[in-house]
Amino acid sequence: MDKFKYDESTDSYTCPQGEKLETKGTWHKKTRDRDSYQYKKYRTPACKTCPVKHLCTGRAKGGREIERSEYAPAVQANNQRYKENTALYRKRQEINEHIFGTIKRGWGYGHTNLRGLEK
Ligand code: SF4
Repeated sequence: MDKFKYDESTDSYTCPQGEKLETKGTWHKKTRDRDSYQYKKYRTPACKTCPVKHLCTGRAKGGREIERSEYAPAVQANNQRYKENTALYRKRQEINEHIFGTIKRGWGYGHTNLRGLEK
């Protein structure tokens, strides 16, 4: 995925071959356990004749397909903040993360991180 560039102004991706992967704008729903989120699909017809398709996708029929979550902008913004403030994030880990470890393991709340009725 790091070889594909997303362009917010056209809501499309450009692949390593310079082809534009576009979306029809339809939101699809994916459900895992009790959570669900929406995503859009991006494709290009150029995959049919692409000389490096075998390096790009394992799909015998059809071409490369990219799924972009509704939360992708928030994830990108967070990654950007992290890159710009690595020292601050390291400090946050030192100060905050062990508290959650104490709550979970020391006080017996390990189940709080599990999902699903069985767990
Ligand atoms: S298979 Fe499709 S998406 Fe992948 S490099 Fe070729 S044209 Fe681009």
